[in-house]
Amino acid sequence: MKALVYTNPHEVIYRDEPPPVRGVGEVLIRIDAVGICGSDMHAYHGRDPRRVPPLILGHEIAGLILEGPGEGRRVTVNPLITCGVCEYCKQGRDNLCANRTMIGMGRSGGFAELMTTAAASVIDIPQDMSTRATALTEPAATALHALHVASRALLRPLPECNVLVLGGGAVGLLSALLLASHGVRRITVAETNALRRASVARAARVTVHDPAADAPLPDNSIDLVIDAVGASATRTAALAAVKPGGVVVHVGLADWASEIDMRKLTLAEITLVGTYTYSTSDLRAAARALHEGAFGDLAWVEERPLAEGAAAFRDLHEGRSAAAKIVLRPHAEAR
Ligand SMILES: [Zn+2]
Ligand SMILES: [Zn+2]
Repeated sequence: MKALVYTNPHEVIYRDEPPPVRGVGEVLIRIDAVGICGSDMHAYHGRDPRRVPPLILGHEIAGLILEGPGEGRRVTVNPLITCGVCEYCKQGRDNLCANRTMIGMGRSGGFAELMTTAAASVIDIPQDMSTRATALTEPAATALHALHVASRALLRPLPECNVLVLGGGAVGLLSALLLASHGVRRITVAETNALRRASVARAARVTVHDPAADAPLPDNSIDLVIDAVGASATRTAALAAVKPGGVVVHVGLADWASEIDMRKLTLAEITLVGTYTYSTSDLRAAARALHEGAFGDLAWVEERPLAEGAAAFRDLHEGRSAAAKIVLRPHAEAR
């Protein structure tokens, strides 16, 4: 089969690979579309010690089950393969499973014509859902999970909040679209890349902010900040912008550690909360929401053949892509 293989930092190669063999309790999936995630870019930059080359990356899957339970069904998958028996799995917080592995990390991912994964991690979808929407289920579930966590921490209803989203990539944009569908009217998206700012402005009815050139956002003005970047600079900006009593939800993770303003956090009773991925029920809810159109028309998603994946990685690396999400299609003839 053809696959796009991460071989070295800053190098992915489209080449022949042995087809995967389905193991016990697994399904064989034909990949119809697979999104390039920020975490795939992180690996590409050689900055993720958990993703060791040579490796087939990719975990934002739309596909069809060729062999195994659910044969013939169009599906997405939970990239996290979890144990089902630890305390977190039993609580429904399977994203925190103590024994989890992940496709495109501990095992081959979806930048390929075929992939195997645990049958238990398959997420069934409405069969008339578009391939594009299906491939967006994973980042949409990340946004949905972050909003759930935010809603639990906020003292006032979400629609009343003044919300700042840091980062106009897929998770930032999907968060903004989901906020809008929940009736939030005051949404600002901050993004440093001018091409992405333009596509955010086209895709969502939000205020778009250029942190480099625009007047800084007033301190203490925001009820909820969603940091979909997670860099030192965005954490500083988030803590400055949030109102006393407000909430900062930390979703992205570009930098692993930095100074944060613990004085403001303490004196102003800021809730700073980390969120990681999604539970299985978040993925199901995200698929339903996408199918119902809660995220709009998704015209901002760019599709390219998997064979041209190396150029897509380069364009994302060099900030030349306006699209908040590039989705790769392994089978040109597929719908
Ligand atoms: Zn992802
Ligand atoms: Zn578990």
